Amino acid sequence: MPFAQIASPRSLRARWVFPMAGPPLHDAAVTISQGRIVAVGNPPDDVPIEDLGHVAIVPGLVNTHTHLEFSDLASPIGHPGMQLVEWLGSVIQHRAHTTARNCLSIEQGLRESIHHGVTTIGEIAQPGGTRDAYHASPCKGTLFLELIAPRIERIEGTLEAAEKHLRDIGPWRAVGWAEPGQVPAASHWQRGLSPHAPYTVHPELLARAVDLSIEHKMPLAMHLAESREEIDFLRDGSGPFRELLESRGAWDPSARPHGARPLDELRVLSRAHRALIVHGNYFDDEEIDFLGRQRPRMAVVYCPRTHAWFGHALYPLEKLLAAGAIVALGTDSRASSHDLSLLAEMRHIAREFPAMSRATILEFGTRGGACALGLESQIGTLEPGKWANLAVVVLPEDAAADPHELILDADGAVVATWVRGNRVA
Ligand SMILES: [Zn+2]
Repeated sequence: MPFAQIASPRSLRARWVFPMAGPPLHDAAVTISQGRIVAVGNPPDDVPIEDLGHVAIVPGLVNTHTHLEFSDLASPIGHPGMQLVEWLGSVIQHRAHTTARNCLSIEQGLRESIHHGVTTIGEIAQPGGTRDAYHASPCKGTLFLELIAPRIERIEGTLEAAEKHLRDIGPWRAVGWAEPGQVPAASHWQRGLSPHAPYTVHPELLARAVDLSIEHKMPLAMHLAESREEIDFLRDGSGPFRELLESRGAWDPSARPHGARPLDELRVLSRAHRALIVHGNYFDDEEIDFLGRQRPRMAVVYCPRTHAWFGHALYPLEKLLAAGAIVALGTDSRASSHDLSLLAEMRHIAREFPAMSRATILEFGTRGGACALGLESQIGTLEPGKWANLAVVVLPEDAAADPHELILDADGAVVATWVRGNRVA
């Protein structure tokens, strides 16, 4: 249920505070009042202090890509290293049997997110169904409606659902949305659209989704360059994605010219108000440079453990950073990952890229995510004026030269989560 706002100021003291807007602070406090941060560092004298003990306070984590409809899965679908297209076939089958459990599963996913210190999400939602679970959770973010229409005949129906999502009709009304065209508030859900992927989205649908993004000033999210097979499909319409579409009567040979590539989709998406490019596992140098030049309106979303589940080639993380691209993180869903812990995703990066700056990795899951969703003025760092969204992480006993290692090279759990000044886990 929506929680009551605790108005009186208080300071939360921790062994380390990671403001992400400056260096980590030893034995410091975050002072909050009326849901917002009012001071970071030394607590004001006249405010009661709660000592949280041997823990770190970090900004509430931002999971910019997930599909919570799969949150009731005990383990991922399929097996490690399986081909994406084969996995998608299993997901389609799974979906056909689980519509009734959908709402409970979303509720479970939101609870799990809060438990892991995730206070803001980028969620890919299906058309229809109740949005009560989203409304009730303290976790907010962007609800991207998934759009799928590989053939031209299906575009109009898909756009109708998109318009309904954006215009707040029927069951959507009660969900506390930010109004279309307003600057999104981190205390509300904002609306977005997710043209799914090049093999499920006709170019005409993508262009129309971009037009809607401009008209409604809302973000898009699209899976792109996720697998080698997708690159083949774009180039000459060959490979297992074509077979999948043919088997479902959805193959349209005239949809794209031969020689297409992810860069073509990036160019179209760059017209949007804002775009999250999900995965990008197989971007070439030109595409990476393009993304760097399009910041801050375009961000790339790396899903580290899902990337590992499919056994993809090493993620081009260093190239993306060198190009200046904004990198955010996603867990993707429990259909390709064992849980919804963003901290586990960051720890995975620390193992996969041992030489990478730990401060940079922590930034992906906080400030980078906030920036990707257009919420950087309200969340993502601990600074006066921002919402008091906090994750509290247990620290190991030993010291470290770089305090970020105490979070990312250890295994302490998230033991408390605060959203807009209220402890919610
Ligand atoms: Zn996804």
